Amino acid sequence: MTDDYFMNTYHRLPVTLVQGDGAWLRDAEGRRYLDFTAGIAVNCLGHNHPALVKALSDQIPRLIHVSNYYQTDISRRFAEKLAAACAGAGARKVFLANSGAEANEGACKIARKYSLKKYGPGRHTIVTLKGSFHGRTITTLSATGQEKVHQDFGPFTGGFVHVEGGDVDALDRALDPRTTAAFLMEPVQGESGVRPQTESYVKAAAGLCAERDILFMADEVQCGLGRTGTFLACEAYGVRPDVVTLAKGLAGGVPMGAFLAGDKAAEVLETGDHGSTFGGNPLACAAGLAVLEVITAPAFLKEIARKGERLAGAVRGWNHPQVTAVRGRGLMTGVDITTGAWPALEALIARAEVPGGTGGAAAGPAKPGLLLLSAGPNTLRFLPPYIISDAEIDLGLEMVRDVLDRAAGG
Ligand SMILES: *Cc1c(COP(=O)(O)O)cnc(C)c1O
Repeated sequence: MTDDYFMNTYHRLPVTLVQGDGAWLRDAEGRRYLDFTAGIAVNCLGHNHPALVKALSDQIPRLIHVSNYYQTDISRRFAEKLAAACAGAGARKVFLANSGAEANEGACKIARKYSLKKYGPGRHTIVTLKGSFHGRTITTLSATGQEKVHQDFGPFTGGFVHVEGGDVDALDRALDPRTTAAFLMEPVQGESGVRPQTESYVKAAAGLCAERDILFMADEVQCGLGRTGTFLACEAYGVRPDVVTLAKGLAGGVPMGAFLAGDKAAEVLETGDHGSTFGGNPLACAAGLAVLEVITAPAFLKEIARKGERLAGAVRGWNHPQVTAVRGRGLMTGVDITTGAWPALEALIARAEVPGGTGGAAAGPAKPGLLLLSAGPNTLRFLPPYIISDAEIDLGLEMVRDVLDRAAGG
């Protein structure tokens, strides 16, 4: 088997996955891996979830795709349920796309047009945070507040300004009502280390935006859809974004993105302003509806919050000398590791196994491996599927701790 026909964009692990079940994956050699990544917050219901499999199996023989020039019952039902789930945060109308980057592009288009129609040209700047991640298209790279992505692919889309998160004064200065259309932020930054913004900062930001008629836009592509224990992370902050973007877990693994707008911006985009060939096709909507039915069921979100607290509490309880910080909300946890111990954790991530320890590929099929992510330098990122059990969380943590103990000993 060869990877020769792929461009070199990914550093792939030497693991060929063939079957998933719940929080578990199996490779071509029959080894089992506990999944603490959920496909980067995508497989929120885990693998092979009966409700998702049934919804897709029922939909496939009916309609996989029709163009957005026609109506379908499944897309109407999905849009209604999604809008209802986001109504508590003020959302009213939705546009369906295929990815997080596309969702954020759409949000930027809404912001630009909202401001242009109301105030005329020149008020187009979109302020974002340093360390943010908003996608890989040329425009969403511009939105992303990390220098390393602003190379090689220029010229980039203009009109983006990046400020330090947590600094209300800096934001106050950046949100110039003469030039600024919107502020776009991740309530909990994912890629750059699992960093929740403070409640006071998010509230202040929403307040400044409201006062200046600047759109307050939340990128909840990673932290939305129950990941942090509320349907939208914004709910826990007590703010109502004018625009919110979603993707990753939205259809449980079928590609799908969305942006939603509340009263201020719901009618900004008009016929012909935006579109997507695949966006919200019947297959994706069937999957999305199944996901929403599961995660909006009573007590489901509370369980995510409980499991997340249990997980973070367990890591804090280790009082491990190699752990310097534990952050996050719900089942989105970042654990900072000392630079001394980090290479051992990097090896765990790169091999998906605990060398000679509790499990791993080398130990044979009986001993499980662990799929794990990092987020920035020295930070482990735990994004397990929502359906993970307490025992599975404990098992994954045991593997991490085993590596940490050895790193400390060596
Ligand atoms: C993953 C991610 C994106 C980009 O999503 P894609 O589907 O890869 O385009 C945007 N914003 C945030 C916060 C993300 O985590």
